Amino acid sequence: MLQELSRRQFMKAAGAGLGGSAVAALGFGGAEEALAQAVRPFKLTGTTETRNTCPYCSVACGVIMYSLGDKSKNAHQAIVHIEGDPDHPTNRGTLCPKGSALLDFIHSETRTTTPQYRGPGEKAFRPIGWNEALDRIARLMKDDRDKNFIRTNQDGVTVNRWLTTGFLAASATTNETAFLTYKVVRSSGILAFDNQARV
Ligand code: SF4
Repeated sequence: MLQELSRRQFMKAAGAGLGGSAVAALGFGGAEEALAQAVRPFKLTGTTETRNTCPYCSVACGVIMYSLGDKSKNAHQAIVHIEGDPDHPTNRGTLCPKGSALLDFIHSETRTTTPQYRGPGEKAFRPIGWNEALDRIARLMKDDRDKNFIRTNQDGVTVNRWLTTGFLAASATTNETAFLTYKVVRSSGILAFDNQARV
């Protein structure tokens, strides 16, 4: 029965589980070359690696994102693969099921990619630019702080409190970002300060 099969047919039937050396041992030395030609190129060849942090929870596992494109201008970039960062001290390359599904999260059609704004009386949110969003946030914060900042309590003791605005920070940040965020928020007088670690 074996003699009736061509080498190509045999290779097809044997599938990927049969290594080239085993094939050679069976007397199909030339088939090794065919097997090598049939092997698909490693899918991450030529991709760009970018280190980042999983956005989901406060464990803040490190990830490596692989994207097409070489970062040159006009090159189309698309993230094609994400895996745990083996050099990251938190997760050592591992990811939980949520982190393992990050690629779907990134390419989800319902993912919010721009700031959203819903004005008074409007029924739906609409996307706005980052500059517009940041200018508006800064304006509203300044106005609210000017109006409601408390310098001293009823006993005349300096307290420097700003109680009418709260701040929700990200838990999956670097130590440096967290340090600076804390400094900015606390120096403004905001007391209502939390992060999304419990989300
Ligand atoms: S991979 Fe899982 S455990 Fe790690 S940060 Fe993401 S959600 Fe949290």
